[in-house]
Amino acid sequence: MDADATPKRPYEKIIIVGAGPAGLILALLLSHHNIPSLVLEAWPGLDTRLRATQYGVPATRVFARAGILAEIREASIPSFPRITWRRVADHAELAHLDMSCIADHPDRMTIMPLGEMIKIIYRHCVEESRGLVEVRFGHRVVGVGQDGGKAWVDIEVGEVRERRKIEADYVVGCDGGTSTVRKSLFGRDWPGQTFDCQFIVQNIWYDGFEKYGWDGGNYMVDPGSWGLVAKRGKGGMWRVTMGDKPGYTEDEYLKRREAHIKRMLPGHPDPGDYRIGDTNMYKIHNRCVESMRVGRVLLAADAAHICNPMGGYGCMTAVVDVDGLADCLVGLYEGKAGEEILDTYARVRRDIFLKYVDQRSIKNLNRVAKSDPWTVRDTDPFFELVRGYEHDVEKRKAFLLKVQSIEYDFKQHYTTPKNKSRST
Ligand SMILES: Cc1cc2nc3c(=O)[nH]c(=O)nc-3n(C[C@H](O)[C@H](O)[C@H](O)COP(=O)(O)OP(=O)(O)OC[C@H]3O[C@@H](n4cnc5c(N)ncnc54)[C@H](O)[C@@H]3O)c2cc1C
Repeated sequence: MDADATPKRPYEKIIIVGAGPAGLILALLLSHHNIPSLVLEAWPGLDTRLRATQYGVPATRVFARAGILAEIREASIPSFPRITWRRVADHAELAHLDMSCIADHPDRMTIMPLGEMIKIIYRHCVEESRGLVEVRFGHRVVGVGQDGGKAWVDIEVGEVRERRKIEADYVVGCDGGTSTVRKSLFGRDWPGQTFDCQFIVQNIWYDGFEKYGWDGGNYMVDPGSWGLVAKRGKGGMWRVTMGDKPGYTEDEYLKRREAHIKRMLPGHPDPGDYRIGDTNMYKIHNRCVESMRVGRVLLAADAAHICNPMGGYGCMTAVVDVDGLADCLVGLYEGKAGEEILDTYARVRRDIFLKYVDQRSIKNLNRVAKSDPWTVRDTDPFFELVRGYEHDVEKRKAFLLKVQSIEYDFKQHYTTPKNKSRST
């Protein structure tokens, strides 16, 4: 290309910290507009621990925009036929949402373990981005700095932890809940709460699900053995996520889970009746930063805000964040928006987290873990809402496809070149 014909861009280089779903989707979306990025990942490979498995409609729409939805659908089970809330004590159904009315809708919820999905996103970054996305594993960011003209990251490379510094126009922290980028900006200050429980996550194969007619996702309501029991993968793989009291060792939790599984699963199985695959344990939190932008450093997804997993809001919000940030960075790059659009991103996405995601995810957690399982059916307004949809397919459909509270179109803040020249 003739260099003289290329207009000077408002920025040249973006560093994205973290090759999780947020960081990689941001890089992919930017590459669609010929914007190069460098993704730095601390680990030697992708993080495939057991975490997210379901992604609501707004996330599905981002997967489609990123060009990865068809491949995800091909490799995953079809979406849930239904979501059921059950009382653990007798497995009685408290409420259900029949999702068959949106079974063929292109925007329906996506189901796939994150560990599998992230490999698809990564492959697209490497193979479909025409070299615009560079991912460097074993590059741990240990600090972030900036001055008027540039930002930089300090990194440790490989096992020898060789120190280096890389400069860019912008640094985007997509480095998850333990974000070093966030800590570089705000220290340990991350307002919110850590819940007083241990979260235990495992893949399970058990023929009792089919035998007792369970399907889809089952939210289990009980103050002692609460969680989600959900069909997740081809080949009869189910994911059981459960909460337990704090204060035990990992070995003790693994022993205690036999009793939880016996209470929660249909047919009350003993250990010899099922097979457990991978297991991971987590602390869970709801927290949000004071600001998602400080000059040339931006935060997105779990690095900025985190929520407990009940209801599947975390990754969904993460990918919607970076979809919005991509629109803002593209607008800036292409001269359709000024730098102030990055402030709009930071304000709007933080407000959406606090107003909707934070509150709803806490309500979801309280519903399964803290409510009285014998009265909640009649006292929780959410169950009344769900019952109202039982015989009204159109209303149910609208509820299941709702996006507007979580999504936000940042392109409305673009100013066209024509408008810009008029105002200058
Ligand atoms: C048990 C569980 C179940 C969940 N279920 C759901 C669900 O069903 N649906 C849903 O929507 N969400 C769910 N979530 C939440 C979801 O997994 C997260 O919201 C999502 O992974 C956030 O993506 P991210 O890219 O922001 O961060 P991460 O996935 O955490 O990725 C961050 C990346 O940054 C890297 N990194 C960290 N520090 C550095 C550093 N200093 N330098 C370089 N790289 C670094 C990490 O290694 C990692 O690869 C669940 C979470 C848990 C724990």
